[in-house]
Amino acid sequence: MSTAVAVARPRVISVEPGSPAERAGLLVGDELVTIEGEQPRDILEYRTLVDSDEIAFVIDRNGLTFDVDIEKLPTEPLGIEVHSALFDEVRTCDNHCEFCFIYQLPPNLRKSLYLKDDDYRLSFLYGNYTTLTRFTEADLERVITEKLSPLNVSIHATDPAIREEMLRNRRGASSLRWLSALLDAGIEVHGQVVVCPGINDGLVLDQTLADIADKYRDLATVSVVPLGVSKYSTEERMRAHTLEEAQIVVDVVERWQDVFEKTIGRRLVHASDEYYLNADRPFPPREAYGDIPMYEDGIGMARSFEAEFTGQVDTGVGTEAGFFAWVDAAPAEGYRAPRTCAPEADGASTVMLTPRRTAPVGILTGELGAQVIEPLVAAHDRDDVRVITVENEFFGGNVGVAGLMVGADLQRVLAAEPEGHRYLLPDVCLNRGLFLDGLSPDDLPRRVEIIETDGIALRNALELP
Ligand code: SF4
Repeated sequence: MSTAVAVARPRVISVEPGSPAERAGLLVGDELVTIEGEQPRDILEYRTLVDSDEIAFVIDRNGLTFDVDIEKLPTEPLGIEVHSALFDEVRTCDNHCEFCFIYQLPPNLRKSLYLKDDDYRLSFLYGNYTTLTRFTEADLERVITEKLSPLNVSIHATDPAIREEMLRNRRGASSLRWLSALLDAGIEVHGQVVVCPGINDGLVLDQTLADIADKYRDLATVSVVPLGVSKYSTEERMRAHTLEEAQIVVDVVERWQDVFEKTIGRRLVHASDEYYLNADRPFPPREAYGDIPMYEDGIGMARSFEAEFTGQVDTGVGTEAGFFAWVDAAPAEGYRAPRTCAPEADGASTVMLTPRRTAPVGILTGELGAQVIEPLVAAHDRDDVRVITVENEFFGGNVGVAGLMVGADLQRVLAAEPEGHRYLLPDVCLNRGLFLDGLSPDDLPRRVEIIETDGIALRNALELP
């Protein structure tokens, strides 16, 4: 029986004016039937094929097929964008984790948010986490040959029985063998542990970190993040950490940081900012996080934000992947899409900007962000600036990150706020100009200023010296 996967043709969605592609007559809507006689499976193969000074295309335009040869300078970009990163099927996840946030989404959101992927290519391209339960020998060969590094791997627990139980997949017990193979091949891998209280915390977490020290110490980083539970979770065992449980996780992580520091010269493992907030502990100093940003896991963001806001440093990093990655398996669209451009579906959204710089300012953020920003703003003694906490009633549960703020909650909060004020909204909660619930800033009852989700943008918006 054939197991061949259907491969869609890359479709041109934009052509750069003056580019080799435009000079050769390529148009938006053209489908690339073959490139150099090959049909690429994904954007990685596509990039390799177009990395040449002479490229032979077969194009399909409205059902008419013809050849196009493009000549360009070796380093010159071709000048087209195609519709997707994967032309064959996304490798979907066949795990059924109790803590999966996709199972905890409300119904009737846009379809792409419900996609569970476990595709190492999306890990390389977008920083998605993969459990490696669908990884194969051929994948390993491709990762090594094409140097698809770095990758992000969900570890959760190294005990085979517990990992199998957490992923609800028999292959969860053994798939970390691929992690060893990747590390042995010199691939940079970032690990993540989503901690579910009563399941993989305490002694299990301790053993996981011991096994990492023993077998996986070449990992670039290991992020320890708390389980996110929405009001839609139907899993009886899934619940938020208590204060004491969060403190124990921080203690375990910090104890192992000392071990790693002494044995391999770097801390390796870090607890997320959310853990420090939940544990009511101060964040570690900024230098404790080392040089590798782990913002996608919500690690070190608070200290970097503080350093940026107070003018100590310009990290230039920002929150590229957003707070969505504070929960495992963040919605696909959530951190693959640009934040403030118009949505493809209807092209209707525009971002309204407010020019009145002298009005009182309200900084909109989630419950966790408020705990970080409030003391920073208070230090400036500005009675014209308030932090407005947007309680997340849409997801409920313990969801308090700014990246999961939605239009409906902002509508509710802003409706009770005075007109004529400036309202600052971090762009991390937007994807293609839309909130997760499909609303846009145009649907809000007050004008909002969309600013980048970093301390420099906030400082500039407040016109601090
Ligand atoms: S958490 Fe990740 S690995 Fe688990 S079911 Fe969801 S998408 Fe799959």
